[in-house]
Amino acid sequence: MIQRKVLIVEDEKEIQDLLAHYLRKEGFAPILAADGEAALSAARREKPDLILLDILLPKADGLEVLRAVRSDADLARTPVVMLTAKGDETDRVIGLELGADDYIPKPFSPREVVARIKAILRRSRGAPGEAEAPTFVYRDLRMDVARHEVRYQGKTVSLTSKEFRILQALLSSAGRVLSRDAILSKVWGEGTHVIDRTVDVHIAKLRQKIPFLVKAIETVKDVGYKLREG
Ligand code: CA
Repeated sequence: MIQRKVLIVEDEKEIQDLLAHYLRKEGFAPILAADGEAALSAARREKPDLILLDILLPKADGLEVLRAVRSDADLARTPVVMLTAKGDETDRVIGLELGADDYIPKPFSPREVVARIKAILRRSRGAPGEAEAPTFVYRDLRMDVARHEVRYQGKTVSLTSKEFRILQALLSSAGRVLSRDAILSKVWGEGTHVIDRTVDVHIAKLRQKIPFLVKAIETVKDVGYKLREG
């Protein structure tokens, strides 16, 4: 059996041990890092299946680590779950903008953490129906789902896993309105904890990375988004 690697980035030894213990019990291979710099070098060396990332860390903080992970071509699509201080809205919103996949407020139950990790890994393996792996062509944009690659005017665009899947959802329903709920359930799965604004944050990112989408993705007030017919 292949053990999935989870990089635990946490400077509090007790929490680190607790998480490692529960993950090991569930058949994962935990990798530990206690500060931001160690986290990045461990991520680059080990290519973990998922990163569990505390925000308050010595050296580089969790948000800096997240930013570095998302801009590293080899790591950009690694799911990241942030551990946040309870009620810290600013960190949560910044984390969303930087492409975190989920948040777990402290204090947390390790069982819940493990359950969320499993859910995210299930989703990132791909939803049923993705097996055919289509290629979408929309004006100068080309998405190859099997290779997880997006090219605009022939140049590769680096997208996070969420941005990729949102774009895929829009491309596969071009000309039709997708509600925020529909996008959330397609991309995050049913019953996730993310808030509506998450979708807006990711759409904003897509528009920033691929500027013609500013116009091509239409905002449908109070409902969601629509990719104009190519
Ligand atoms: Ca900490």
